[in-house]
Amino acid sequence: MDGAKFVIEATEAEQMARDSGLSILQLLPTLLPSAQPLARPPISKFQVAAAGLGSDGRIFLGVNLEFPGVPLHHSVHAEQFLVTNLAVHGVPRLIAFAVSAAPCGHCRQFLQELRHASDDLRILIASDESPTFKPLSSLLPSPFGPFDLLDEKTPLLLEPHDNGLLIAANACNGECESDSDSKLEAAALEAANSSHVPYSGCPSGVALMDWEGNIYKGSYTESAAYNPSLGPVQAALVAYMAGGGGGYEKIVAGVLVEKEGVLVRQEDTARLLLKLASPKCKLRVFHCVSASTPKGRMKASI
Ligand SMILES: [Zn+2]
Repeated sequence: MDGAKFVIEATEAEQMARDSGLSILQLLPTLLPSAQPLARPPISKFQVAAAGLGSDGRIFLGVNLEFPGVPLHHSVHAEQFLVTNLAVHGVPRLIAFAVSAAPCGHCRQFLQELRHASDDLRILIASDESPTFKPLSSLLPSPFGPFDLLDEKTPLLLEPHDNGLLIAANACNGECESDSDSKLEAAALEAANSSHVPYSGCPSGVALMDWEGNIYKGSYTESAAYNPSLGPVQAALVAYMAGGGGGYEKIVAGVLVEKEGVLVRQEDTARLLLKLASPKCKLRVFHCVSASTPKGRMKASI
């Protein structure tokens, strides 16, 4: 793998902070200038970077991604990349992050999917005149969030999910005989079962394989406000970059797993986006027939 580094181990982060005479939080904004060139925004050319501290002491980076040939809402914002990077690495909580430009409204909304984010998540906007860490609630007062729709016991983003999907034994039609095919399929199923879909109950996940046989998986992530939701292809591309993948052209195979006959379907969009981002990638799609109840515990209407 030849990509840039999107995760800094806790010991390395502590050493970097000590060497610079900074606290870990103070270190975050200093990482942004070298992270910004990792962004891939061919449309806006506006590079955004975010650097966040996970609850396990590691530092995670995020950058913005844009995809020519599809509408702008397919873009991945740096804050979404950052949170997806934590999800990919199984980190349960984002403590604070610094970002090179003010988070847009879409990202302030997306971050509401993290439990207690309004009050607990601290954000520093590096482009401010006097940058300081502030709670998300100061950037988005009177938010509309998950608990306007869901029971408080419903798992939120970065919390464990099990959507209970299974791939039927005969689902391959003879197309997935190799070992690497079954590994890719298993990874996509795992991603679908971890997806955050409390609003639609329509889980999905994508796994991608590069030409060296490395596998990267991403889960669909919904937002209470719907539009800021992040598709499974975008999440898998984040995993690909965060896992050290290089150019998208190195992705040679992909699997999408989603539930059959649901209202929110990814297949057409996934095929379109992957065809544009990585024309040589062969995508296989599995529609799962059996599942438990993945939808969040919706609040009773009055
Ligand atoms: Zn944004």
